[in-house]
Amino acid sequence: MRLCRYDNDKLGVVIGANVHDVTKAQDEIRAKARYDMKGDAVIAALPEWRGKIEDMAKSAPGKPLSSVKLLAPVARPSKVMAAPTNYQKHIAEMAARRADGQHAMPNTSPKILQAGIFLKANSAVVGGSEGVPLRFPERLNEHEAEIIVVIGKEGTNIPAEKALDYVAGYSLGLDMTARGGEDRSFRKSCDGYAPVGPWFVTADEIADPNNIDFELTVNGETKQKSNTSDLILNVHQLIEFASKFYTLYPGDIYFTGTPDGVSKVVPGDSISLKSVEALGELKIECRAGVEGW
Ligand code: MN
Repeated sequence: MRLCRYDNDKLGVVIGANVHDVTKAQDEIRAKARYDMKGDAVIAALPEWRGKIEDMAKSAPGKPLSSVKLLAPVARPSKVMAAPTNYQKHIAEMAARRADGQHAMPNTSPKILQAGIFLKANSAVVGGSEGVPLRFPERLNEHEAEIIVVIGKEGTNIPAEKALDYVAGYSLGLDMTARGGEDRSFRKSCDGYAPVGPWFVTADEIADPNNIDFELTVNGETKQKSNTSDLILNVHQLIEFASKFYTLYPGDIYFTGTPDGVSKVVPGDSISLKSVEALGELKIECRAGVEGW
């Protein structure tokens, strides 16, 4: 099942090129959810509600996906985790830049197990229709194409071999980045620097999360093209690693890392991240987020 959020906080099931309105399910789920719950009520309720939502979608009239404003498919992640330096070729390209003196950063790229993962602010999460308001004209702003895991069940100290039991599904994401010497969380948490979408697909539609093709273009030109089989820590290991430090909650979002090919974007650029049919295509426009750009 492919679930999206759209227009004014509606919930939809995507079937083919149409969205079917199941907002009534969302209303009921949210009304019953505790205010102090950690995580996203709709994602948490999916095991119980999935059949009902699918039935509702069948009887709800569809409207073209292209006619709606897509929001991020998860409304309230308790946290947004992200893996740095998780593709060898991306580590190599960043190391080459440092050797050129392009970045005021340490001269070595720490391996992910030493570097740890980092967190992006929840308030940076947007859907495709919202665009990316770029800040820092004087800096290098770049796209990082990433496959996203959406956690489905609360868990801590999850062993790798059980990791997929805790996955609700997958999505596409951009770990937008203003390059600089500060902490990652600081530079990667600007408003709109965490686009997610176009929808969220339940785990049953992805046979192997460690074998997903994806390709990113800017204004139609291919910049990044890879497969999650090149991940250094794969999806199972990423979940094991994060859950040693954090309890994972339904709706938590996990950026799995970017391959090589990251490149500069400026206001006016159109980014497209395309993957397998079940994940679709995340399209988003960059615009100036500060005056005078
Ligand atoms: Mn990244």
